[in-house]
Amino acid sequence: MDLKKEITLLKEELINLRRDFHQYPELGFEEFRTSAIIADYLEGLGLEVQRNVAKTGVVALLKGEYEGPTLLMRADMDALPVTEENDIPYKSTNIGKMHACAHDGHMAMLLVAAKILTKNKDKLYGNIKFVFQPNEEDAGAKYMVEEGVLENPKVDAAVAIHLWSPIETGKMSVSVGPVMGAMDIFKIKITGKGGHTAMPQYAIDPVIVAAQIIMGSQTIATKQINPLTPTIVSFAKVASGTSSNIIPETCELEGTLRYLYKGGPDSEERPRERLEKIVKGICETFDTTYEIEFQTSNFTVSNDKEMTSIVRKIASDLVGEENLVPYQTMAGEDFSEFTVDIPSTFYFVGMGNKEKGTDYPHHHPKFNIDEDALEIGVEMHVRSAMEYLGKK
Ligand SMILES: [Zn+2]
Ligand SMILES: [Zn+2]
Repeated sequence: MDLKKEITLLKEELINLRRDFHQYPELGFEEFRTSAIIADYLEGLGLEVQRNVAKTGVVALLKGEYEGPTLLMRADMDALPVTEENDIPYKSTNIGKMHACAHDGHMAMLLVAAKILTKNKDKLYGNIKFVFQPNEEDAGAKYMVEEGVLENPKVDAAVAIHLWSPIETGKMSVSVGPVMGAMDIFKIKITGKGGHTAMPQYAIDPVIVAAQIIMGSQTIATKQINPLTPTIVSFAKVASGTSSNIIPETCELEGTLRYLYKGGPDSEERPRERLEKIVKGICETFDTTYEIEFQTSNFTVSNDKEMTSIVRKIASDLVGEENLVPYQTMAGEDFSEFTVDIPSTFYFVGMGNKEKGTDYPHHHPKFNIDEDALEIGVEMHVRSAMEYLGKK
């Protein structure tokens, strides 16, 4: 197979698919049109297709000619509540919604890769599960896992690409270990005793306690945890009080813990426990009570050594070792839901190009993809799958 030639022949189709998704963006769990196009395309290839997995998700199974492991390849489908400011012929027609995170490109790349891989199934020792996932921006992956996407056949390894504007087109980042951060949402309610601001001795001010907690918990990152294991404690919402001369009864805090390591209760860092300890200590000191609640938004995306080395070799061959750059971000990515017990790699394909104006940050109203990066993504997908499922 002359892969480059096949991709060139499919270039127009690749770009048309991406532009069509771009023009009709749909928010998480509302990807009905998107989902139908994907399922029809994959059925057209002769694959076994499951529709409506986790509401709008699509899963297609490609059985290789020979027995072997099953590789999961994932693309995300959702757009964002952003009003597009680009002046392009395929500008979003759904006002207030936009593909501003390159998921339109992810879907197009994986569909075209599926087409090429299907044509080459006589060379595959094992299966490929093409997974098109809804609502990445708000933890949609776990619903696909709950609906059994990792079973029948059981998934042995997983890969995914994020097109990434902070990295220039022609460059990539493929690295072992943590690449995207975990996020826990926390909610804290401090209860004191209301009263008159002129007579604080008869009240217990929860606002002062909240202030101590906000400041005190910053020491988790700066003084308690190894600074080489990045941790962010952010308070995004502080709510209390009704009037300037009343000490309120309660104060509510909400925020996020983000970290680039596995921060569970068995870990050395244990960020949740440390935050709760600070809350407990300060509340006891000032005679307030508290309630605290944590919710896991996503785990850290941590890349397996072997899977990453397979993909990295291909990337190095494709763009040159000098164009493989280190990259990590504290931003979250729910691909981690698929990979809790499965070796995987999640990597970044650069698509930033200043001249073309494709270097805006993700989620920006002027975000756009350098479409030259799409072919790189297709080639990476195809070659990674062929290598993992090749004759051993
Ligand atoms: Zn995003
Ligand atoms: Zn994204």
